[in-house]
Amino acid sequence: MHELSIAQSIVEIAEQQAQSRNASEIEEVELEIGALAGIEISSLEFALETCVKGTMLENARIVRRDIAGEGCCSGCGRQFPLENLFTPCPACGSYAIKVLKGKELRIKSIVVK
Ligand SMILES: [Zn+2]
Repeated sequence: MHELSIAQSIVEIAEQQAQSRNASEIEEVELEIGALAGIEISSLEFALETCVKGTMLENARIVRRDIAGEGCCSGCGRQFPLENLFTPCPACGSYAIKVLKGKELRIKSIVVK
């Protein structure tokens, strides 16, 4: 399961960060997840619940920031909301779309105790 390995890396990275700041516990982790990142949110949340057990993140609040997709047409330059990667340009119908936003998958911030 894709989301399980993502959850494991989130836990690993957050713990490394906390250790480098000599913290014993993590209070909050803020994640940025783009609509086009290919993440099943419910699976990720479930995977995180499992992965945080026995780690510094066990009692951490996990804040999720969802980022909507946005594309730019390479043909006519029009910018528009992108719900998936197979959306054609609403102005000229071109599929040559550059993704501007929505592929994010990262830890934005970590609050430690
Ligand atoms: Zn276009």
